[in-house]
Amino acid sequence: MYINKLNQLYKPKRILFYIEASKEIVDSFNNGIIPEELSMFNDSYGTYDGPGLFYIKDMDPVIGIEYRLDDKNINYPKNLKSKILEESYFYSVEIDDDFDTSISNIKSFFKEIGKDDDAKRIYSYLKYKTDPNVITIFNGKEKKRMQHEWYIEYSNTIDVIEANKDKIDKDMLYDLAFIDPITKHFNWNHLVPYLETPSLKGITDYAFVHFDIKEFRIINEVYGHIAGNKILKKVVKKMNEENFIYTSARCHNDNFAMIIKDMPQDEMEKCLTNFFKDLSHLEEDPNYSVYYRCGVVPMKISMQAGNRVADFGKFAQALNKNSNPKTDINFYTDEMHSDMLWSNYIKAYLDTAIKNDEFVVYLQPKFDINKEVIEGSEALVRWNYESKAFLPPYRFIPFFEKDYSIGKIDDIVLEKVCMALDKWKKEGKNLYPVSVNLSRIRLFEKNLINHLTEIVDKYNVDHSLIDFELTESASYSNKEKMVECLLELRKRNFKTSMDDFGTGYSSLSLLKEMPLDTLKIDKSFVDNLGTDKENEKDTIVLKHIISLAKNLSFNCLAEGAEMKSQVDKLRNLGCEIIQGYYYSKPISISDFEKKYLN
Ligand code: C2E
Ligand code: MG
Ligand code: MG
Repeated sequence: MYINKLNQLYKPKRILFYIEASKEIVDSFNNGIIPEELSMFNDSYGTYDGPGLFYIKDMDPVIGIEYRLDDKNINYPKNLKSKILEESYFYSVEIDDDFDTSISNIKSFFKEIGKDDDAKRIYSYLKYKTDPNVITIFNGKEKKRMQHEWYIEYSNTIDVIEANKDKIDKDMLYDLAFIDPITKHFNWNHLVPYLETPSLKGITDYAFVHFDIKEFRIINEVYGHIAGNKILKKVVKKMNEENFIYTSARCHNDNFAMIIKDMPQDEMEKCLTNFFKDLSHLEEDPNYSVYYRCGVVPMKISMQAGNRVADFGKFAQALNKNSNPKTDINFYTDEMHSDMLWSNYIKAYLDTAIKNDEFVVYLQPKFDINKEVIEGSEALVRWNYESKAFLPPYRFIPFFEKDYSIGKIDDIVLEKVCMALDKWKKEGKNLYPVSVNLSRIRLFEKNLINHLTEIVDKYNVDHSLIDFELTESASYSNKEKMVECLLELRKRNFKTSMDDFGTGYSSLSLLKEMPLDTLKIDKSFVDNLGTDKENEKDTIVLKHIISLAKNLSFNCLAEGAEMKSQVDKLRNLGCEIIQGYYYSKPISISDFEKKYLN
């Protein structure tokens, strides 16, 4: 059975228009059917809710619809009986279809909730009323909603509203300031003094931990808020039991913080892993596992950060993916910190950099190793950052991929390549294909291929001169998208390559479906070749990748050969093209022109 607490709610004095409901009418209402006399008023202006089944004290059941009183803009139903209902407060829950909606069951159900009520508010709360005037059932969109009249206690409320400071109770103020109303545990405000003055509790070492529950929203939606609240309370109980925790808090929603004893990292990881493992069980469904995202700030950084430690913990926590089905524990490092500052800075600066034309394209030639002639090149971006530093891609591309702004840079690179090809064509130079990198995360951009085609067509560049390089994709749905994009590119006569082959996740069987011209074997396969680290097994793997590529009719290119011995070895293994420092490092477009085009 599914129960979802919705709310405590207030209804003012109002008018109910109704028809008497025989047992048959009640039964068919419970099956979702609303009598015609009432269904026509559904969604009318001035109604408080849709038509519902009303159990009113001293009356037989009726089906009716509630309206606001005395409003000349409302068209009140004409031919129905009516009754004024006095103002009242309700407790409302959602239920599954299999809930027994007999009046006696409803009453005992709410009585049960009343014993351990989650609906207590800060200023006022509802209490179960044994003899209610009104109980109502509505057919909601997906679930039924039941409302049972309760009575309300709000002795302090008006004093709060009127700011009568003298009348406000100190205990209540303390609770308001430091206690979380749902779990009754300490809140964030209570944890702050520990961070500011650990000495008061004799704490000489600590690490800070911040975590939340993965997919908590889904747990609430699928199993109900009551199930969600139960997990929150279980977390609190566990935090209170563990010896390694100095103090803890529920910060908000499903976010928790802990100040724990400092330990060596592997020990701390073990300790926290066990802690979360014990909290993975969901009472409502033994097949569901609850997972957590956790950020840890070790002592050295915690102590230096002082009260900014929470930002660091949350930052480390957020680096974990919410949707991975496992608990992730991430330790905050100084490097993360400088990365964060750097990434925030360059993200804010990106548009200015584009305006200042700071992105520069370098070209690295690709060589046909049998004929020893150039056969193409790859465009590689550099950032002439504020004209002060010349940054390689790893210093900025990963950050711009994270916030999806990488497309702006890829477009600039493509445009500059097309400008160069157009210029060379007009000058009657030999033209070789140029590859450009296409960031994988762009595959999901709407209209991507049209957009790229437009850039190329703006310069009248022959499509077969542009080769798009994509890296292997990480997930299955991504692979399908990748095949779709590659097919479309090839349909438009562009060339396609798979970059860094062997570093990602592609299964070999998928290669046969990939519409590719060139397979670029990653540098890591080449590194040991021709050196004293070379081993036979590596060579066997490489040989087979090369023959696989050729059997699938791909051109086979090896990345990153730096020495003659590597080139010779690759040639012997059947590789045809090499892009590596042995032939040339990436160079500026004008140097490329001077050296390779005539
Ligand atoms: P990539 O596409 O695999 O490019 C090849 C990288 O290997 C280049 O590094 C190149 O300089 C380097 N390389 C080539 N031969 C050798 C060699 O013999 N020895 C060594 N040590 N390195 C060699 P680079 O330019 O630093 O680019 C790194 C990566 O950044 C690229 O790997 C690509 O994934 C990415 N990237 C570069 N430009 C762009 C761009 O315009 N857009 C996107 N999305 N990514 C780009
Ligand atoms: Mg590449
Ligand atoms: Mg590569």
